[in-house]
Amino acid sequence: MTPPPAGDAVSLPCTARVVELRELTGAVERTVHATSTSAAVTLLDGICLPRQEGPAATTAALPAADRDRLLMAAHRRAFGDRIEATVHCRACRSPFDLDFTLSSLETALDASGPPDALPDADGWYSVAGYGRFRLPTGADEIAVAGLDGMAGVAELVRRCVPEPHPGFDPDGFQDLLGRLAPLADLDLDCACPECGTGQPVHFDIQSYFLSALLTDRRRLVLDVHRLASAYRWSHREILELPRAERRALVALVEAQPAAPSRSWRLS
Ligand SMILES: [Zn+2]
Repeated sequence: MTPPPAGDAVSLPCTARVVELRELTGAVERTVHATSTSAAVTLLDGICLPRQEGPAATTAALPAADRDRLLMAAHRRAFGDRIEATVHCRACRSPFDLDFTLSSLETALDASGPPDALPDADGWYSVAGYGRFRLPTGADEIAVAGLDGMAGVAELVRRCVPEPHPGFDPDGFQDLLGRLAPLADLDLDCACPECGTGQPVHFDIQSYFLSALLTDRRRLVLDVHRLASAYRWSHREILELPRAERRALVALVEAQPAAPSRSWRLS
């Protein structure tokens, strides 16, 4: 088996890093069991090439906005840039299509306005009314995942704001985080083509991409079966193939004419 090709360079807006992202393999796809932050971190750890950038080099140490950029890049390589989905009108229940590109979403995120503040060299912000704080990371999200709404917010603030200013407003803080580090997690303004009712349609790249991989799980099993039958490669060898190569080989195998039957028929 040949080693995977070099990765795509992905620029991260919050930490100003450039990360090399290699292509998905079946082995990495099989690590996805949910659409949670923990699942996203595990997936990305499997495809981010090793870097030498100190303590923030693991995916769990990245803020969500940076993680979203990696997920968008990974989706683009696995499924393409276009997002297509069918949603149902909340008024007349008619189905209609949602169709946009991740590139356009990235452009919109980049143009979402000048930040209220810039971080220091260690990633810490200082904003009047809130004090000194850092952006929540994947590790922070995982740590509060089991807590309910208010308790989760309180724990997130405790972890990211060492000394909150008097009168610290948690809701305002969340709005501030959204402006400093906008996420690919938003409500898109849509209008039903049948009845014209406007309505927000929620999209977030983490749920969308991980759901697509979960839906693809059955096809991965079939891919392994087809390639093992055709080439006699081991399960492990097939799971280590880059996704595009695996899919291309399966297409070649499926294009082969079926072998003639070995059964005899007396007439
Ligand atoms: Zn409608």
